[in-house]
Amino acid sequence: MTDAHDVEADAGENGEDPAAAEQMALGVAEARAILGDASRVVLLTGAGISTDSRIPDFRGPNGVWTKNPGAEKSATIQNYVADRDVRVRAWRNRLDSPVWSAEPNKGHLALLDLEKQRKMALLITQNIDGLHHAAGTDPDRIVEVHGSVREVVCLSCDYRKPMQVALDRVRQGEDDPPCPECSGMLKSATISFGQNLVVEDLKRAEAAAQTCDVLFAIGSTLAVYPIAAVVPIAKQSGAKVIILNGSETEMDDIADVVLRGSISDVLPLVTAP
Ligand SMILES: [Zn+2]
Repeated sequence: MTDAHDVEADAGENGEDPAAAEQMALGVAEARAILGDASRVVLLTGAGISTDSRIPDFRGPNGVWTKNPGAEKSATIQNYVADRDVRVRAWRNRLDSPVWSAEPNKGHLALLDLEKQRKMALLITQNIDGLHHAAGTDPDRIVEVHGSVREVVCLSCDYRKPMQVALDRVRQGEDDPPCPECSGMLKSATISFGQNLVVEDLKRAEAAAQTCDVLFAIGSTLAVYPIAAVVPIAKQSGAKVIILNGSETEMDDIADVVLRGSISDVLPLVTAP
């Protein structure tokens, strides 16, 4: 996360540093060879794959929470439930979310190549933007461990609908629309701070990591647990580990290949048939 890393990444991207470009080409070739031999690839994606779709990163150097720590505080479930003002603000933010106009980028689309080659066992994502769905990845093979902003859920009953249904009510003047079935509080179907991850999702991710032959982590600093643990789980189960990210990650040490660069530039080179 230091300036030095940004400079390094930029140099590689622009091809201004011949040594970095050569190292990247070697890394890409190595990653392609590993994927070529693989039949069960597990993908793990984080915020970095969506920044080129102009979805802001939350914890990166220019992240929402890095710049405005107060926003992280209001993202806890306790504050959401306790404070009507926090909910009203949250609904306004949902209306204005960059997600509604975002489109999948070359990184999301590149992953479809692995699916077409029948190599993709599971795509685990930490992102809540739904852009893998929008790119056309098989929804049955996506696990959104932090949920999705594209759906709305009731905190008291099983009510679950597309987010736009609730946003239409906000546009029509309800500043904190209640559940139409039980009058409970509605919230995006995301995992807020203070909320537990979905146990079945975690189990599915871990089981896939135990049985894959390649774990390919893309656009995540691999610092958020428990999901980051799928990387060492895969490694210990005998899988190869490939990491592609714009900056250093917590797991670079155990990776077989580390690619440091722009995801939308590098990923298509790695996955192309
Ligand atoms: Zn309800």
